Amino acid sequence: MHEMSIAESVLQIIEDSARTEGYTKVNAIWLEIGQLAGVEMESLRFCFDAVSRDSVAENARLEIIETAGQGWCLECARNVAVAARYEPCPNCGSFQIEVTGGEEMRVKELEVE
Ligand SMILES: [Zn+2]
Repeated sequence: MHEMSIAESVLQIIEDSARTEGYTKVNAIWLEIGQLAGVEMESLRFCFDAVSRDSVAENARLEIIETAGQGWCLECARNVAVAARYEPCPNCGSFQIEVTGGEEMRVKELEVE
């Protein structure tokens, strides 16, 4: 399951950082996820609750920030907003769009004790 592996990698990032920074409890996590990453947010919350049990991030609040999709339209030769994959260019209707942003996922900030 896609969301389960994302939840596991987020926890991995947090545990690595807990080890190097020396904190023992995480209260909140701000997670940035691109709109085009294809992540089910509710499912991710559920998975994260499950994998974070008995870890430094147990009961941590998960704040998800969705970042907008972006692409380069080959027809218009400029950056355009991409609401979803395989959608045409909002300016010219072309499908020749290279996605340049909105697929990433990163831990933006942690609130720790
Ligand atoms: Zn275009």
